[in-house]
Amino acid sequence: MEPLTIALVNVPLRLPTDTRKWITVPPQGYGGIQWVVANLMNGLLELGHEVFLLGAPGSPVTHPRLTVVPAGEPEDIREWLRTARVDVVNDHSCGAVDPTEFRPGVALISSHHMTTRPRNTAGCVYSSKAQRAHCGGGPDAPVIPIPVDPANYRTATRKEDFLLFMGRISPHKGALEAAAFAHACGRTLLMAGPAWEPDYLDRIRRDHGDAVELVGEVGGPRRNELLATAAAVLALSQPATGPWGGIWCEPGATVVSEAAASGTPVVGTRNGCLAEIVPPVGGLVPYGSAFDGHEARGVLERLPAPGEVREEAIRLWGHVEIARRYEEVFRAALAGASWG
Ligand code: UDP
Repeated sequence: MEPLTIALVNVPLRLPTDTRKWITVPPQGYGGIQWVVANLMNGLLELGHEVFLLGAPGSPVTHPRLTVVPAGEPEDIREWLRTARVDVVNDHSCGAVDPTEFRPGVALISSHHMTTRPRNTAGCVYSSKAQRAHCGGGPDAPVIPIPVDPANYRTATRKEDFLLFMGRISPHKGALEAAAFAHACGRTLLMAGPAWEPDYLDRIRRDHGDAVELVGEVGGPRRNELLATAAAVLALSQPATGPWGGIWCEPGATVVSEAAASGTPVVGTRNGCLAEIVPPVGGLVPYGSAFDGHEARGVLERLPAPGEVREEAIRLWGHVEIARRYEEVFRAALAGASWG
């Protein structure tokens, strides 16, 4: 079959520390959607497709069939797409594109990353069954989990004792509960990520300060080292109010496949996608922060071994396999299939 020409639209965001620059693909620090785009892009390129990346000016050009389009502002992205000679637009921008402006015959596949109803429901792909149900997607809408390219992560020959939280230090992401879990186990929790809610951070420090070591936002080799050497990653998302209103339903949880690809098992709650993706690479715990030390240590003892976890991650979420599933959806849409 002929390779496809694909416009991959990243969520266009400026770097908070230097607003002249854009968050790239892969991102400099925090950035789940950017990692989804980076890993999927590698899979699509490996399958022989041509990719135009939008919404991430300044991203590294890592492949001869990859073009980084210098369009960051939504207006510039839409302008480029109006005349683009591509087969497919795969939108990860949460609705910055308008399919009525494309050339005839171009298919739009929107990969949904939020917990609200997608702007373009037609051709929408969800990252979990939980997200699809929560966002009102039809039962025929494809569910394709978040991809992981193992080459973007490393493994460790020796694990360390610490537990890791890597994400937004926010109530819906369960940072406080992660600290409580570590506290109950008598382990240290390294907490990496942006903290945009100072009162929440103060509460974590007050209640579980002895168990927590804040490492700030991390990227590059330090991030990969933490992911690889941690004894376990904690993804204890809670049914709290989320950033877009409504109760949080974890949509895809990039950090789960990243941890697993690094040979690190995950302890998660049942929130949203976590009930679907954590069991093959870790264990589930209840909501809240009332952990019994003996039980919490038991959860850690029963976690699968690093090699097993990494194998599962590649089998379930390997970037080439996930890109293949996307390709199927792209070709179905080009042949006229539609779903709501
Ligand atoms: N992340 C990072 N550095 C940090 C904190 C987080 O690189 O200091 C990354 C993390 O590895 C993941 C992403 O940011 O790729 C967070 O995405 P996730 O889907 O886990 O959470 P959400 O998008 O809901 O914040």
